[in-house]
Amino acid sequence: MEKKKIVIIGQGPAGLSAAIYAGRSGMDTVILGCDPKVAGDYTIDNYFGFPEPVTGKELIERGVAQAQRFDVDIRCDRVLAVYPSEEGYQVKTEAGQVEGCALILATGVSRVKPGIQNINEYESRGVSYCVSCDGFFYRGRKVLVVGEGIFAANQTLELLQYTPHVSISTQGKTPDMNPPFLAKLAEAQIPISEKKITHIEGENGMTGVVYDDGSRQDADGLFVAMGQAGASDFAASLGLVKNGVFIEADEKQQTNLPGVFAAGDCVGRFLQISVAVGEGALAARSAIRYVKQQFGK
Ligand code: FAD
Repeated sequence: MEKKKIVIIGQGPAGLSAAIYAGRSGMDTVILGCDPKVAGDYTIDNYFGFPEPVTGKELIERGVAQAQRFDVDIRCDRVLAVYPSEEGYQVKTEAGQVEGCALILATGVSRVKPGIQNINEYESRGVSYCVSCDGFFYRGRKVLVVGEGIFAANQTLELLQYTPHVSISTQGKTPDMNPPFLAKLAEAQIPISEKKITHIEGENGMTGVVYDDGSRQDADGLFVAMGQAGASDFAASLGLVKNGVFIEADEKQQTNLPGVFAAGDCVGRFLQISVAVGEGALAARSAIRYVKQQFGK
């Protein structure tokens, strides 16, 4: 498997700032993630050093160019899952796999909600957000994965190690999975429905779901995997301590797991570019020290 000293997930201000510091220190660094939301035609009026407003697009383009100057490997590739590995952390992406001695999470915050009326009532009683945490509890049982993209496809394929009774609901969205993943799902005979689940049924835990056309489907479990995987998903699979939807990190951006650092909006202190950039720098410094101490660089 491809190995890097530092793997950064997220190409927003926090991830790019971390990449500049990591690259400049000479660490072999990869940054995984495509343009952040702010990289559009938005006016940024409060970022230091720009007396005239700058667009989010220009700011991000400048950050990318600066990170490239320090030989950071920048890839528009989405991360599907993260696992602890022998030498650090294994990161599975849409394009392949990479292992990092240290990991910096800079994924921002955006959790797409599935829009199921009573989903909160069934959390821990059938509804889960993490296959690697809870898939085991559904051995041989009927489960649904809710999501339209490659993240949902990957969660579904992971579930197959526990049960063959898996199906996908895209919640009214058009499936957005690439041909290799669609082929794997077809080979495993996974049904994909574009119908929308309105609510969950069951007295003592979940027993099924009801669709907006009035039809119902038996299910003991429902795994939410809308959009792309985010900080919450990685936190769940790695066992990171969270504070609501945010990842807990100390003043050095260290999480509760050695070698895993978090920066920017995913930490949730003050959702601003200046803070994300500062935390990215701190996270990189901590990651560089960690790699030098643990692996002697
Ligand atoms: P983000 O910028 O959200 O970047 C996170 C990155 O992680 C994204 O590229 C995302 O695609 C990537 N990612 C997530 N999951 C994955 C995955 N599974 N695999 C790979 N990549 C992943 N702040 C200001 O200070 N001033 C402003 O004027 C201002 N205006 C704003 C206008 C808009 C329209 C928006 C949306 C935000 C604005 N903000 C502003 C807030 C600011 O953009 C954020 O605080 C800042 O971008 C946070 O940086 P970040 O790097 O933590 O997260």
